[in-house]
Amino acid sequence: MNKSLSPTQKITFSAMLIALAVLSTFVAKTINMPRGIDEEQIPWGHGEGLDSKYLYVCHAEFNAILNTRDGAHLNGCTLYVTLFPCNECAKAIIQVGIKEVVYLSDKYAEGTAFLASRRLFTMAGVKLRPYEGKTLEISVKP
Ligand SMILES: [Zn+2]
Repeated sequence: MNKSLSPTQKITFSAMLIALAVLSTFVAKTINMPRGIDEEQIPWGHGEGLDSKYLYVCHAEFNAILNTRDGAHLNGCTLYVTLFPCNECAKAIIQVGIKEVVYLSDKYAEGTAFLASRRLFTMAGVKLRPYEGKTLEISVKP
């Protein structure tokens, strides 16, 4: 069965934005060290204490906000993400005025960072919405 869209088929705007969020995880390194930090000097593992990458990396949401030329343009926007944001990204999302977060997965919902994130979003009045539309299968052919 051919799952490709025909030229006459339409997809929703939300489906396109979720597809772009997923695609960006494949075409770009969405989790980065801060600029100027030699990645070879920092552990990329899940280790303990100072050997944990989580102390050093910038998540995709945080990077996207910081790399926006004028953060004021994000005020009132909707953010589409593949994974429900952690508490650190939630702070940045709230600070720039994003009003809605649409997420594809909430697989770490019971983790402390994600419980805190949900609490922050709720207190700040940020609308949270799991993406429930059709998901697209993306294939790239040379
Ligand atoms: Zn995060």
